[in-house]
Amino acid sequence: MGLKIKKVPKQQKSNYKILKNFRHNTPENMYCADCGAKEPKYASVNLGVFICSKCSHLHQLLGPQVSVVKSIETDIWTAEEMQNFLIMGNANAKQIYGAVVRNRPVTLDYLRQKYDSLSFVQEENKRNSLINKRKTFFGNYNQSQASSSDVDYETKYLNEMEQLISMGFTKKKYNLKALILTKGNVQKATDLIINAQAKHQEKKTLYSTMEYNPTSQESETIEQIENMGFNIKSNTKTLLLIRKVNSFFFFLYKCVL
Ligand SMILES: [Zn+2]
Repeated sequence: MGLKIKKVPKQQKSNYKILKNFRHNTPENMYCADCGAKEPKYASVNLGVFICSKCSHLHQLLGPQVSVVKSIETDIWTAEEMQNFLIMGNANAKQIYGAVVRNRPVTLDYLRQKYDSLSFVQEENKRNSLINKRKTFFGNYNQSQASSSDVDYETKYLNEMEQLISMGFTKKKYNLKALILTKGNVQKATDLIINAQAKHQEKKTLYSTMEYNPTSQESETIEQIENMGFNIKSNTKTLLLIRKVNSFFFFLYKCVL
């Protein structure tokens, strides 16, 4: 039996970049949410916490209806999982589920109390949307899991990509996005790219004439993104994007992709 080498698709490489950044730029994320071990390499996707490999085994024993465990590097994360995860993180989780256990070993029973029975959750947090999300998320989980199995779109749309390039659309990144959005329909993808190029030109003109004037909420969002370790330009382009996507994690996603 030879060693099986897992091929990590490109999409996950960029997810890993985001996750690693998220881990390194929030102090709480640098330590396992349950035992405090350094540089956790796993995550509970639905609970939104970084955990160490030791605790990840216990999380798996909790069952996926309580905790969905993934490696931050080698497992494939769907866009939905990324979004769910990035809005939580260990700092938020600590506020909600209770603090890290120190000086005593983490047991399965403790984790059951913490994440399943919610024994350490304060009454006022019980209606927190993040906590409720962890359950409803599971309903979508099997479905998203199935669609993520063929997430290596670059291989999937190899022929279509070649067609687009031969037609003069040389920006592979945009081509791939268009192919994903149109499910590999070259004609529709072409329309999409042409449209996007026109809009890009329009926007460029718009940005150069607009003033940078964020609301306090938008300033907060920008700060939040920066606190997560992303260097973003606080300019009109950023601001309009934030307004458009109306949610910082989508923005974050766009930053890296
Ligand atoms: Zn741990």
